[in-house]
Amino acid sequence: MRALITGGAGFIGSHLAELLLQQGDEVSIIDNLSTGSIDNIAHLKGRPGFQYTIDTIANEPLLAELIDGCDVVFHLAAAVGVRLIVEEPVRTIETNVHGTEVVLKHANKKKKLVLVASTSEVYGKSVQVPFSEDGDLQLGATTRHRWAYACSKAIDEFLALAYWKERKLPVIIVRLFNTVGPRQTSRYGMVLPTFVRQALAGQPMTVHGDGTQSRCFGYVGDIVGALARLVREPAAVGEVFNIGNDQEITIGALASKVKAMTGSASEIVTVPYDVAYEAGFEDMARRVPDLSKIRRVIGYEPRLSLDEIIAEVIEFMRERRPAA
Ligand code: UDP
Repeated sequence: MRALITGGAGFIGSHLAELLLQQGDEVSIIDNLSTGSIDNIAHLKGRPGFQYTIDTIANEPLLAELIDGCDVVFHLAAAVGVRLIVEEPVRTIETNVHGTEVVLKHANKKKKLVLVASTSEVYGKSVQVPFSEDGDLQLGATTRHRWAYACSKAIDEFLALAYWKERKLPVIIVRLFNTVGPRQTSRYGMVLPTFVRQALAGQPMTVHGDGTQSRCFGYVGDIVGALARLVREPAAVGEVFNIGNDQEITIGALASKVKAMTGSASEIVTVPYDVAYEAGFEDMARRVPDLSKIRRVIGYEPRLSLDEIIAEVIEFMRERRPAA
């Protein structure tokens, strides 16, 4: 298989590139290094079957050429991280909507399979936990910038499904739930690398709100394994899948766990959402995937427990300090 990964120098994209190369696939990536990093793919440079292009997917002639040269597109390029989204809403909306638009448009010319990475954020404030793919999405007011991310990704999903329905372009949509693992940076505010960095540095560990909000953390190795299998599964075409882990933990408990596992003397402090993000910021109380569909279609099973995942992240960040 010849795969094109947009956002291939990102955290998830670089793990996917590595896995596909290991499987004997050819991998081409395109990344504008907005949140991705050349460090993420440094170890892949020079490997047979690997090539990379540092450019934006908005460069349509280039994108069209790259799509022509592949069998499947993993569309991972997007604005990520709630903090970035709140701080740069224009870039978020434009990147997510326009980027997916051009990828689908060019893939459609040659009917190349496209896997579109969406997000659990699309479920918004829904309380129908665990979230299943056909459940309702519940977003907040347009004056709250956080929801621009969910909304832009929901538009991506609608557009991809429209291409499938109307033009028979094969697409697969995945909603990723809080993916974590080695190489994820704390720079964009994601909670696990942030807590580990703070704990290792002996700095206060910043729990937003009262810490009772919960998340489920999926291991990046499990996630990219599922992506690689989905594109080889004909029954996945035209479908939406949750991918992640269904082991739920509150953010307060996560902070205590990281503190204990690092043996850190850091103090755990609470930071109001208004201070952490912006006035009126709304968080979701619980976010848990229903994984029955992906289990049924590809026999997906998360391999690593939360403790094992945290241990890997700690080990990685210990080695990386202080760069991470
Ligand atoms: N969070 C936190 N401290 C931090 C960073 C994040 O308490 O330093 C919280 C954040 O408010 C949210 C949860 O951790 O409730 C997960 O945040 P993240 O940005 O990792 O992902 P999200 O689930 O918001 O997409």
